[in-house]
Amino acid sequence: MNEPRYYRPKKITEALTILSGEGAGARPLGGGTDLLVRMRVGHMKPSVLVDIGRIGLDTIHPTGDAVVIGAMCTMTQLLGDAVVVRQLPALAQAASKVGAAQIQNMATVGGNVCNASPAADTACALVALEARVMLRSVGGVRSLPIGEFLRGPGTTALAPGELLEAFSIPLLPDDTAAHQSFNKVGGRNALVCSLTAVAGVTQITDGVVQQCRLALAAVGPTCLRPSRAEALVHGEPLTEELCRTAAAAAAAQAQPIDDHRATGEYRRRLVAALVREHLLECMKS
Ligand SMILES: Cc1cc2nc3c(=O)[nH]c(=O)nc-3n(C[C@H](O)[C@H](O)[C@H](O)COP(=O)(O)OP(=O)(O)OC[C@H]3O[C@@H](n4cnc5c(N)ncnc54)[C@H](O)[C@@H]3O)c2cc1C
Repeated sequence: MNEPRYYRPKKITEALTILSGEGAGARPLGGGTDLLVRMRVGHMKPSVLVDIGRIGLDTIHPTGDAVVIGAMCTMTQLLGDAVVVRQLPALAQAASKVGAAQIQNMATVGGNVCNASPAADTACALVALEARVMLRSVGGVRSLPIGEFLRGPGTTALAPGELLEAFSIPLLPDDTAAHQSFNKVGGRNALVCSLTAVAGVTQITDGVVQQCRLALAAVGPTCLRPSRAEALVHGEPLTEELCRTAAAAAAAQAQPIDDHRATGEYRRRLVAALVREHLLECMKS
C-alpha cells in the first residue's frame, strides 16, 4: 500500500484549501477510529490525510436557544461537559455507549456522523435532537438537518472538499419538562455495536405530550424517525396502552434486515421494547 501524504494544518482555511486542492483522494482525519481501521484492512486507500485535530473544531458553546458542538469534540469531552450532560442527556448517554474509554478518548462526534453507519450511537441521538450540521468549504458555509445529511450506509451529503464543522442543536423551550434517553441493545451488555438503539426526546406539559421525537438506529439504511409513533402520542396524555400502541407503530416502521448478528424480527421486537421503555419513563418523570 502506498502511504498517504499527511498534513496537520493549524487553521480551518488551510485544511479546506488542502482538501479542495487534492481532490477525491483526500480525506479528513478525525480520531481515526473508523478511518485508520478501514485503511488497515484495505477498504479505504486515501492518497492524502488531512488531520483536523488542530484547527479549533473542539469547542462546545451554548448560544441561548441552541448548543453548538464542534465536529472534533470527542466522546470523552461530551461526557465531561456540563451543558451536554444537563441539557442534552440523550447525546451524553449515546457518547457513553461508544466503545470503551480508549475509543471514547479518540472518537469524535463529527467522525461518528460522517462515517454514516446506520448503527452510529451519537448520530442516532442527534437525529432525535433534530441537530443541524454546519458544513464548510472554500466556497462558504451551508447547514442542513442531520436527517438530510445522512443518506444511507456510508453515504452523506458531504460534497468533495467540504468539512463538517459543527452541529447546532436546538434547545427545547422548557427543557425541564423534557425527557431524553438513549438506549441500545447489543449482542452483550457493553462494548458492542448496536443490534438496535433508540433515542427519544419527549416534552410533556400538564400531562400532555407537546413533542415526541424518536430515532431508531441499526434498523434501516440510516437512522429512522418513526413518524407514525410520534404522531400517535402527540397532543395526548400518555397511558400504558398508548405507549404499547406507539411502540408497535415504531416497530412496524422499522426496516431491519437479517444478518449474522440478529434476525430482522428480533430487531423489530427490540425497537418496540426500547420505544415503550422511553415512553413509560416519560410517564414517570
Ligand atoms: C473498537 C471500536 C469500537 C467502536 N464502538 C463503537 C460504538 O459502540 N458505537 C459507535 O457508534 N461507534 C463505534 N465505533 C466506531 C467509531 O469509534 C466512531 O464512529 C467514531 O465516532 C468515529 O470518529 P473518528 O473521529 O474516529 O472518525 P475518523 O475515523 O477519523 O473518520 C471517520 C470518517 O469520517 C470522516 N470525517 C471525520 N471527521 C470529519 C469531519 N469533521 N468532516 C468531514 N469528514 C470527517 C473521515 O474522513 C472518515 O471517512 C467503534 C470503533 C472501534 C474501533
